[in-house]
Amino acid sequence: MQPAGPPTGAFASSRASMIAPRTIPLTAVPPAPEAIAMAHVITQPCIGVKDASCVEVCPVDRIHSDDTADMYYIDPDECIDCGACVDPCPVDAIHPEDEVPAEWTEFIKINANYFQKASK
Ligand code: SF4
Repeated sequence: MQPAGPPTGAFASSRASMIAPRTIPLTAVPPAPEAIAMAHVITQPCIGVKDASCVEVCPVDRIHSDDTADMYYIDPDECIDCGACVDPCPVDAIHPEDEVPAEWTEFIKINANYFQKASK
């Protein structure tokens, strides 16, 4: 009996096609970073002020608060990132999400949490 060696002939070519590396098609291309939706964020200076000028200019009515809250909040899922609320704020509390000052980054979550609690 001959020792087992590599397959030859027709068997070899059909086997080769079975183990050939497969190319995985790229059907989904991740969006460019600038295409990912962002929101504006209300930060610490709003606490205790609640001027509400921002509420009046928001074209999608996504700045909310209530009597028990000590600040206003922006809904990160619905904010269209237009920036209209930034200038009317008398205490410069509103920033684009990627420009929130380092000491106030926790407010990104604080804004989002307000709307998550409201939806429960
Ligand atoms: S950035 Fe525009 S849409 Fe977002 S909260 Fe401010 S005013 Fe409203």
